[in-house]
Amino acid sequence: MELDIFEKVNIYAIPKTIQALFDPNIAKPDFVWENVNELTAEIRDQFELIVFDLDRTLVLDGSDEISPDLKYIWEEIRSGSARIACFTNKSNSRNKRFGDKYDVPVYSGLPKKPHPAKFREILSDYYLAGTPQKTLFVDDSLLTGIVGAKGVGMQTALVNYMSISKTPEMITKRLFGRPLESLTRRRLGLHFSKKDNSI
Ligand SMILES: [Mg+2]
Repeated sequence: MELDIFEKVNIYAIPKTIQALFDPNIAKPDFVWENVNELTAEIRDQFELIVFDLDRTLVLDGSDEISPDLKYIWEEIRSGSARIACFTNKSNSRNKRFGDKYDVPVYSGLPKKPHPAKFREILSDYYLAGTPQKTLFVDDSLLTGIVGAKGVGMQTALVNYMSISKTPEMITKRLFGRPLESLTRRRLGLHFSKKDNSI
């Protein structure tokens, strides 16, 4: 119960967010895509492991289903040579349902992204601790996923947000988290083909 606050509020993001205000380059992704459909075979083949965030990267908020427009590319990615894992900051029963349905490991729990501990655990589980650049991390958030993955030496891809649900948690994020996320995007000069629907 005493850990509940850490589930609700991502305190691990605070130091990196402050650091990014001074140096946005700590959050600069290697690739910027409208969505995962831009993860082409040519890019996939450069990596031994591809790790995906779940919410608003592969699925709509809280869903255990791959977003319909990503189902085809998901199957293509699955049939390629790179191994696949997921890493989400949400801890709930959805993760197990998703993992079972798509036969993919789902990392979650404390400490959350961008803390390096779970990123390192993933690298170590796949025997890639010595070659982190062979892992591509894909996320819709600069200040959690991208900054954390870069911190351990992974390559990174930022995708545009999917639409935002109106849950209290997401409304809080829009009020407090997203302005800083958007500010960092602007300072890095990142642009998507579609309008940024974050705010
Ligand atoms: Mg996300």
